[in-house]
Amino acid sequence: MKKLILLGATGSVGTQIVDVVMHHTDLYEIIALSAGKNMKLLRKLLLSVHVDTVCVQNESDALILQKEYPDIRFIFGEDGLTELARRRDYDLLLNALVGFVGFKPTLAAINSGHDIALANKETLVAGGELIQKALIKNNRHLYPIDSEHSAIFQCLQGSRRQDALKLIITASGGSFRDLPKDELKNVTVEQALAHPNWKMGSKITIDSATMMNKGFEVIEAHWLFEMDYDQIDVLMHRESVVHSMVEYCDHSVIAQLGSPDMRLPIQYALSWPSRLPLDDELLFSLAKIHTLHFDEPDYERFPLLKLAYDTGRKGGNLPAVMNSANEIANAAFRNGEIPFTDIEKVIADTVEHAEYQQLHTAEDLSQADALGRRLAISRIRGR
Ligand code: MG
Repeated sequence: MKKLILLGATGSVGTQIVDVVMHHTDLYEIIALSAGKNMKLLRKLLLSVHVDTVCVQNESDALILQKEYPDIRFIFGEDGLTELARRRDYDLLLNALVGFVGFKPTLAAINSGHDIALANKETLVAGGELIQKALIKNNRHLYPIDSEHSAIFQCLQGSRRQDALKLIITASGGSFRDLPKDELKNVTVEQALAHPNWKMGSKITIDSATMMNKGFEVIEAHWLFEMDYDQIDVLMHRESVVHSMVEYCDHSVIAQLGSPDMRLPIQYALSWPSRLPLDDELLFSLAKIHTLHFDEPDYERFPLLKLAYDTGRKGGNLPAVMNSANEIANAAFRNGEIPFTDIEKVIADTVEHAEYQQLHTAEDLSQADALGRRLAISRIRGR
């Protein structure tokens, strides 16, 4: 029996993690979890998931829930997340938080001797260097839940890592892939949230539309698989059937295919190196799909993809600055404060004006995160 702690249980990936675990209660047990502010969904989860501790975002929610559920301990905030991560009595931390808030509990869990299954990509984008060092120091593993990285991880099985020549990350292009650039100015939040292939949370769906998400995935792949940026390609693929590929030194290309369903990467992160049965509600069939399309990405149409490569190569504090600027700009668009096309302007301008610094500690990283937020907010106000 593998004991799990789940962070971000009420989010899009979090609820799918619970679903996967509930199908294998003989193998996995969630002993504690965190939720944000969706108390209705949390109460529903607590009917089926029996945990000893729950961390919520706000103290006021923790106090109300504590009266309702006397047998569960309720804690709150970022300190609560870190407290869960530092526990000794579990085997795997599943991190499905959204944003940089996921970094500290991930680092705390690794330093407490735990393996990680990571859906929270911002942790690797901002702090990949520190996470990688901690993994090596503590001899721990990090299993990717992002579908592209799970695909690459699957394509690398049974081969020597040094024989891999290139990672090829596929990209659907997001909600506006067929819209001319000059029509992007007036798109609505609702239009941006309608992803053609995947049902996901709102932040990542906007990141997909700007392709910041794909840029993040390039940086994520760099740290996860220890590959140079020159060895990581992005390939447009509108059907989201090929989830990513690895090209080897003999130019053999291995791909992983399947339905766009996050439960597979979630389950593989739990069951590796084994595989477990999974119902495919979408009934994957290549004969029904007929045709798959592939294209080069257009870096002028999607400048944030190029910015992510450039920023990843520069390294230091700059990826963290880019990440927090994106969190601010993405939220500002969703709140109706800026037009869609200003997201990329705010982020590019923030990164350009941030001074490069090396990252040595988690404190350096927190400062980089704060710098990006500050610069991005001042750019939004000064428009
Ligand atoms: Mg992905």
